[in-house]
Amino acid sequence: MVQKRNHFLPYSLPLIGKEEIQEVTETLESGWLSKGPKVQQFEKEFAAFVGAKHAVAVNSCTAALFLALKAKGIGPGDEVITSPLTFSSTANTIIHTGATPVFADIDENTLNIDPVKLEAAVTPQTKAVVPVHFGGQSCDMDAILAIAQNHGLFVLEDAAHAVYTTYKQRMIGSIGDATAFSFYATKNLATGEGGMLTTDDEELADKIRVLSLHGMSKAAWNRYSSNGSWYYEVESPGYKMNMFDLQAALGLHQLKRLDDMQKRREEIAGRYQTAFQQIPGLITPFVHDDGRHAWHLYVLQVDDKKAGVTRNEMITALKDEYNIGTSVHFIPVHIHPYYQKQFGYKEADFPNAMNYYKRTLSLPLYPSMSDDDVDDVIEAVRDIVKGAD
Ligand SMILES: *Cc1c(COP(=O)(O)O)cnc(C)c1O
Repeated sequence: MVQKRNHFLPYSLPLIGKEEIQEVTETLESGWLSKGPKVQQFEKEFAAFVGAKHAVAVNSCTAALFLALKAKGIGPGDEVITSPLTFSSTANTIIHTGATPVFADIDENTLNIDPVKLEAAVTPQTKAVVPVHFGGQSCDMDAILAIAQNHGLFVLEDAAHAVYTTYKQRMIGSIGDATAFSFYATKNLATGEGGMLTTDDEELADKIRVLSLHGMSKAAWNRYSSNGSWYYEVESPGYKMNMFDLQAALGLHQLKRLDDMQKRREEIAGRYQTAFQQIPGLITPFVHDDGRHAWHLYVLQVDDKKAGVTRNEMITALKDEYNIGTSVHFIPVHIHPYYQKQFGYKEADFPNAMNYYKRTLSLPLYPSMSDDDVDDVIEAVRDIVKGAD
């Protein structure tokens, strides 16, 4: 039996280096605290990175999702289809526009929305689909785009887990009509809070930019720079959802670090895959052979009948006996109290998402983990399963 770690191993940690700290300090000294030149530079570099024509920096992925639906004119009477296996904000933003969220169950193997079930959920009211690239593994975009084209649907990808994910040699962020990224503290590219919307549609990008900053036709940073003017016009009652320069200062350096961070994630995930594929009762994540998995999450499923241990027992043992933190992604959206009360959903409505949820845990996976940390996780999981038989 491996020893209990002296220090708790958290399930996620951001990697912030001295470059980020220096850039933030310089930004503070520059006097630009709100949206300014760093945001503009980050937008430009991020758009180039994913291969999109436009990128609009906002204060969260939630804001990017909401503003994109809003800018598309989606509202009361409309339906938007998404996966039940996502963070609740994906569905909450649909509700915020006044539209109705509709779920289509996941494929039990890929854990992404099943295109067959997606198409079956389309009605005359359906206006958009929000596929979620769960864990960093791309959805089947060819199938989703074909369905969207047949039914005239707007494709808005939730790429909160998918910075650097590719699908058939194409970067996520350059495929659907619009793509929303998250830079929340736990995500692969972290600015603490923050998000980005990418699109090739200039009109859509302009609308989102205006909506994100009070509905003002001229960005505030133009107003205050030497070539700006005090004059502005409000085109619509917009929101306050823009990114600001301190976040962008972090993002610019996180973007430069992404290659190295991705390599380390791949190494760790590779070691987990090799170790856990050999243990009966453990189900390891599916990986497409024609794209890059961003490895935002490493989700392990525990089949309690074969492993002799339940998912909950595994989580408790890892924490209490080995000092290793884990998490669960996600509690399916349709079983949250609000969704059950408001829409009458039952657990059994989306059985694949439910079965997966009952068996899954997310193991620590982040670039600053040492090889010893990874060994500790592998040995602890092995011990727990072995101890059970
Ligand atoms: C984190 C997350 C979001 C929300 O991101 P924020 O930037 O915190 O708003 C949305 N969807 C998924 C799948 C997420 O994991």
